[in-house]
Amino acid sequence: MSAALITIAEARERVLGVAHPLGTERVAIDGAHDRVLAEDVTANGNVPPFPCSAMDGYAIVHGDAGRTLTVVGESRAGTPSATALGDASAIRISTGGAIPPGATAVIPQENVEVRDGAILTQAAVMAGDHLREAGEDMRSGETILRAGVTLGAAEMGAAVSAGAAELTVYRRPTVQVLCTGDELRAPGEPLGPGEIHNSNGPMLEALAAAEGAIAGTALRLPDDRAATEAGLASALDAADVVIVSGGVSVGPHDHVKPALAGLGVEEVFWRVALQPGKPTWFGRRGAVLVFGLPGNPVSAVVTFSLFVRPALAALQGRTEQPLLEPEAVLGTAVRRNPDREQAVRVRLERRDGKLVATPNGPQASHIVTSLLGADALAFVPAGEGELEAGAAVALERLPR
Ligand code: AMP
Ligand code: MG
Repeated sequence: MSAALITIAEARERVLGVAHPLGTERVAIDGAHDRVLAEDVTANGNVPPFPCSAMDGYAIVHGDAGRTLTVVGESRAGTPSATALGDASAIRISTGGAIPPGATAVIPQENVEVRDGAILTQAAVMAGDHLREAGEDMRSGETILRAGVTLGAAEMGAAVSAGAAELTVYRRPTVQVLCTGDELRAPGEPLGPGEIHNSNGPMLEALAAAEGAIAGTALRLPDDRAATEAGLASALDAADVVIVSGGVSVGPHDHVKPALAGLGVEEVFWRVALQPGKPTWFGRRGAVLVFGLPGNPVSAVVTFSLFVRPALAALQGRTEQPLLEPEAVLGTAVRRNPDREQAVRVRLERRDGKLVATPNGPQASHIVTSLLGADALAFVPAGEGELEAGAAVALERLPR
């Protein structure tokens, strides 16, 4: 059986091989937060657009202390002075006010004494003091944002400064989560014998939304071939990405694979040399991507993180931000799995200058609480014996 398993890297490569950006749309800046930019943004003009003051004070010709200069006008932010400046005069100026023609510096108001419509300069001022040059922040025509970046508050501010009111962003993928299992009950529903609450539904919805997808409410499917096929058929018609939890193993009540085959979904892979997450299934019908994730909640979250999350990012043209620290040392020894790489949920802490990854409690795939407070996934390669404490491990972000 283990011959059929592919590595995590191979599985991810196959996913990314078919997950292409969905297309683009124009959105107003107000609605652009967290969207992925699809076209570079260049500055429409210089920013600041004109030389202006960095301080509240007086625009003057630079020179020594001890000069008396007549105040001949005012330049406020938004209202430039109509008066030009001579050697013996000063123009009151606010932060952001345009530097009047003739001025070569600004003297801050705390460095002058005001007397009868004139100022006495109490400090020497050099050419350029407290001036902001036009284009200091952005030069007209300069590329400010690159396609692929996720638009946070800073990117939105920079885009507006650059002159944009709308941005071209990638379309968000629509996601339908389907949870299979006769045993599943809705959150809070009283449990009968053998029943459990559907924790995967809300988790997978939240994870998809956190990656920028539009996730409808998760649906439950009974372990019945016809019902599974009907549920999958509607999801395939409606969504860009279908995520099925459970029912992809080899049990007599696992109907997902045959149902998908019946609906013309082509298998790309089934089973990965990964613990937890071995039964992971991936396929597609046309441009619709279908993930069959194992039902155990920890397996579902880990496999979402390793395979679905990168796909949702790729569908939106998102450029991956590498982790600041992609490696750590193991805090405690971990028994290896002979055939499968392990994705261990770890807490991260710094000890003696080293980033230490400690397994976050029991690692069995049904222990949802092992996800609480976990900072990352650490990878323990397949092999014999233990990977000892202090060994280097690769890290990957664990989405929240
Ligand atoms: P399966 O992958 O369907 O064989 O399910 C594996 C294990 O995960 C079983 O113990 C299921 O009861 C459990 N499980 C399946 N789906 C869910 C779910 N949506 N929420 C919580 N546990 C689940
Ligand atoms: Mg099941």
